[in-house]
Amino acid sequence: MNNFIEMDFDEWCDTYKPIVNHIDNNASFDNGYGGIMFETYGDEVAFVKEQPEANIWMYGDGDDGGSYVWNGWGFVNRLGYFITEVPCPPNTDMQIRVSYNWFYCENCSAEFEDPDNTIRDAFDEHDLEKCPECATLEEMTLVGLDKK
Ligand SMILES: [Zn+2]
Repeated sequence: MNNFIEMDFDEWCDTYKPIVNHIDNNASFDNGYGGIMFETYGDEVAFVKEQPEANIWMYGDGDDGGSYVWNGWGFVNRLGYFITEVPCPPNTDMQIRVSYNWFYCENCSAEFEDPDNTIRDAFDEHDLEKCPECATLEEMTLVGLDKK
């Protein structure tokens, strides 16, 4: 069974050293030297495919609404690729969190992290386009988010 390692994005950059995308001067994820993300089409993905698999990482959406980097080549929910100088260790599955899921309230425009979609799901279930910032006490009780 593979080892499973989680780390944050900064630690991953320091450890595995993603290379700068030399094909597109406006690539995403500028690290100060240039963008490090490679697109999933054209010359950029062709270049990614030429790299050893252990040096390829996929960037995509997680099931929880956050975004992540995973080692290796993947297609599901992919948004881009990274190539690192340092290869992923063998027999290891890595997951690097890039961002948390954010909740955006249509009613009051409040934005905040909602890592487990607890808030979104609670209001969705009652068809309320509101959030804890703008809901009334009665509505908070209705959706089950009243202060316990
Ligand atoms: Zn709101």
